[in-house]
Amino acid sequence: QTHFLSLSLQAKMSKPVQAQRLEGTDKNIWVEFVKLAATYSKVNLGQGFPDFPPPDFLKESLVRALSGENHMLHQYTRAFGHPPLVKILAQFFGKLLGRDLDPMTNVMVTVGAYQALFCCFQALVDEGDEVIIIEPFFDCYEPMVKMAGGTPVFVPLRPKAPKDGKLMSSADWQLDPAELASKFSERTKAIVLNSPNNPLGKVFSREELELIADLCVKHDVQCISDEVYEWLVYDGKEHIRIASLRGMWDRTIIIGSAGKTFSATGWKVGWTVGPNRLLQHLRTVHQNSVYHCATIAQEAVAQGFQRELELYGTPDSYFVQLPKELQQKRDWLVQSLDAVGMKPIIPEGTYFLVADISKFKSDVPDVPDSDEPYDSRFAKWMVKNKGLAAIPLSAFYSVAHKNNYSHFIRFCFAKEDATLKAANDILQKWKQEKTSP
Ligand code: PMP
Repeated sequence: QTHFLSLSLQAKMSKPVQAQRLEGTDKNIWVEFVKLAATYSKVNLGQGFPDFPPPDFLKESLVRALSGENHMLHQYTRAFGHPPLVKILAQFFGKLLGRDLDPMTNVMVTVGAYQALFCCFQALVDEGDEVIIIEPFFDCYEPMVKMAGGTPVFVPLRPKAPKDGKLMSSADWQLDPAELASKFSERTKAIVLNSPNNPLGKVFSREELELIADLCVKHDVQCISDEVYEWLVYDGKEHIRIASLRGMWDRTIIIGSAGKTFSATGWKVGWTVGPNRLLQHLRTVHQNSVYHCATIAQEAVAQGFQRELELYGTPDSYFVQLPKELQQKRDWLVQSLDAVGMKPIIPEGTYFLVADISKFKSDVPDVPDSDEPYDSRFAKWMVKNKGLAAIPLSAFYSVAHKNNYSHFIRFCFAKEDATLKAANDILQKWKQEKTSP
């Protein structure tokens, strides 16, 4: 009797459970490294989030929304974006792009930039379509393309050694124009551009953006432009929006994040800005998945943007103050890493910095023929043995290219000065241990 029962149970469980489109997308670097950091780190410069608070005006907006008279802020709002937020985003980005934007059709609010990306791939990519991804890249682009049935096609930024023994800059990592052009074909549906780029901090120049734009226009390719770090540019560099280049507005979806913009990553408010011909399909994905995002957080972000619109370009603007503060933190970390021989690549933007770990190889010897890239083992060793968390650069490369870039790790410097100092203390002590007999 029991035997019979278990047989029939087994028979009932013989169908595959996992949808085929999930094949090969089950591993996630953040799940692994966030857990390691939580278990072992004393100082966490790994995942990209500030450990300082968001600006007071933003927190006050949330408190007002929460306890004000308008109790409807606790209920559902418009599916594609709370009206005050889409209106101010249309105004703000309309000003930046020099065009009239319709809040209802040119803007859509999402659950962070992450869901904006998901909507883009689901809305645009069909089985067999190719999507060009520039390496190194924010890791979720690859599985999201695959889940939509598409094929990611990778093109790397190629580093050029700097002259005169100077420190490398993220600007030294460049696309080879011929190589990029060779990736475009009839099958190419979209390209993902991320400027300023996570993890390198590269801010693409006008020439580089024009190169990409010309190829998009020539091959009728859409551009998914992940601009979540748009305000975080340093040394007087300019963030250029590819949508503002000739022929690009109609084929570009701009993605932004209040998490990065206002140092509130936990709020998970993001948005897309673009032409209705593209956004109408994002709305279809959105209404059939998330439907709408937290009203109260949207209300507070709307008020944050209202303030920023009024203060635009002035010294009181948070979008002016934040990069100023972060540039100092960047410079400090650059100096600290350089002093211990962990050569930093100076980022032109974002709050990330990639450093060369070659000089530390004696502490964590290479394992020949290991499947795991060296930098990944190094980062795990470092958090377990030194209490310092960082992310291996190979996590931002496709499987085929991981081992070509496996002697770098990425640090996040959106941290309190005390956190950066604690990281410096760990590195200094480590260096002393290395040099003393
Ligand atoms: N794009 C890039 C390049 C990112 O670095 C991140 C966050 N690390 C996101 C998108 C996701 O942003 P959000 O937290 O708003 O979902």
